[in-house]
Amino acid sequence: MTKPTTPSEIAREAIKTLAARKLVPTPDNYAQVYQEIGGTPDALAASEKHPAKESADDKPSRAWPKLIRDLLKQLETPHKGITVTRKKDGVETVLKKFASDPDALFEKLQGLLNSWSSSPTAPSPGELVPQAPEPTAAGTALPAAARTTHAAKNYVEMAAQLRELLAQSLESSISTQPELTSEIQALAQLVRATSDPDQSAGLSRQLHKFWITLELRGGDRIKIQEGLVRLLRLLVQNVGELAVNDKWLHGQVATLQEIISQPVDKRVIADAERNLREAIIKQSSLKESLSDAKTTLKSLMTTFIDRLGELTESTGEYHVKIEGYSQKIGGADNLTELSHILDDIMHDTRIIQASALRSHEELASTRKQAHEAEARARKLEHELEQVSEKMHEDQLTGALNRRGLDESLDREIKRAERQKEPVSLALIDIDNFKQLNDTLGHQAGDQALVHLTTVIKEALRPTDAVARYGGEEFLVIMPNTGLDEAVATIARLQRELTKRFFLHDNKRLLITFSAGVALRGSDEEPEELIGRADKAMYHAKQTGKNRVVAAA
Ligand code: GH3
Ligand code: MG
Ligand code: MG
Repeated sequence: MTKPTTPSEIAREAIKTLAARKLVPTPDNYAQVYQEIGGTPDALAASEKHPAKESADDKPSRAWPKLIRDLLKQLETPHKGITVTRKKDGVETVLKKFASDPDALFEKLQGLLNSWSSSPTAPSPGELVPQAPEPTAAGTALPAAARTTHAAKNYVEMAAQLRELLAQSLESSISTQPELTSEIQALAQLVRATSDPDQSAGLSRQLHKFWITLELRGGDRIKIQEGLVRLLRLLVQNVGELAVNDKWLHGQVATLQEIISQPVDKRVIADAERNLREAIIKQSSLKESLSDAKTTLKSLMTTFIDRLGELTESTGEYHVKIEGYSQKIGGADNLTELSHILDDIMHDTRIIQASALRSHEELASTRKQAHEAEARARKLEHELEQVSEKMHEDQLTGALNRRGLDESLDREIKRAERQKEPVSLALIDIDNFKQLNDTLGHQAGDQALVHLTTVIKEALRPTDAVARYGGEEFLVIMPNTGLDEAVATIARLQRELTKRFFLHDNKRLLITFSAGVALRGSDEEPEELIGRADKAMYHAKQTGKNRVVAAA
């Protein structure tokens, strides 16, 4: 090989020599080897006196801080299909392959960065703010040796920063993998302490091992979750079969069945948990009263049987006595004796009469109480069922929720088919509700929703049902109602709202809505029916709002 003459050739040779001699690429070591190869001590000395002066073409050294900053940022940005582990793998491979060539290293890292940043991003779990160095001031004409010394220095710094970054990345995974804390800490320490290429091979092996552990653990978690859902499904099915006659459990079981029949959704689970908690509290107090009522009924029945026993006992004795008396009467031969017997009989008869009367009265009262206790138990049982039904209501407005809507719509459609009657549906969407929220606050918005529900419930027939379909959207089901009548009903509701203002801070506010009304066609599916009402509602919005439009 020819002797290197240009500064960049000397620099490259110097880095190779450092690697071959297994010397740490400190600025001093580098300078010494550079001098050895290029023999330009003056140039080097000059560079040390004016370290701030860099050549304008020394692009990598100026671009390193930006590259590192971008790398850190992109490393933490979630990209679809590229895991952090894969990114770290890429960085690790490039660091290993191009450790001795800063220019190539720069280019390869930049390549990695470009490939990450051109991938679509996934939702971000938060951003790590890396501690990147401030960009160095770029001078103009620096001597070649100084430039390369500078590059080496930057390279060493960059390697240290990347090591620190890797250690921090590792440590950040402790929050999601607390069981691996000591292993992660040991690895992070090893990363920080690894500074020469010999050690890095060992470190790389350990890191790979760790990443494999992480992947396996992720797989285990998914399996555990799937197993739990399967178990829950079995349990709910089992409870559902056992509770066929316990109507007060139907709502809860149906909710659970619904949750586990679809992909697990955080919001749905939280909603159901709130509903279940409320149902459990109400039902437990009702069950207590129910059990009291049943105890009362039982004790009344016992009294009843006792009384019955007493009655037969005393009448039994009476018969024996009557028999004794009839013998005595037969044997008596004087009036005085007979008079005594008669007195005795009268006495006994009076006792038996009193006892019978008492028993009769007590029996009547016991029967009355038993009836009352039974009625109370029935009422309580009905209340228990109603609490279960509450699972079908929207928490805020008390209108039916989506679950209740599905059931009600299904029921009404079946009834309409059976009785060959029409059934109509209206989709109501409050006008400019976002504006009301924005100007008066979310809470006022909530109150407005409650107000609207109250007005709807009061203005419609008891057989009509109202359900909250979305945020500020409601569905009204009108059984046995044709299209014209349904449109007229919703228009009446509109007028009712202009009379019953929504009061906020003693100010009267007018709430208006746009509505689409549809009559169910024969064999029409509920989704299709709602879809047509929605289209009509959209038309009402497009043509100026505060209107009722009949669906085509
Ligand atoms: P349009 O007349 O076209 O229907 O306009 P809009 O503002 O009513 O409709 P948009 O769909 O733009 O906004 C609906 C708003 O309803 C946005 C959302 O913040 C609000 N909202 C949805 N659910 C609730 C809720 O439960 N409470 C409150 N206060 N606001 C809600
Ligand atoms: Mg809307
Ligand atoms: Mg709206």
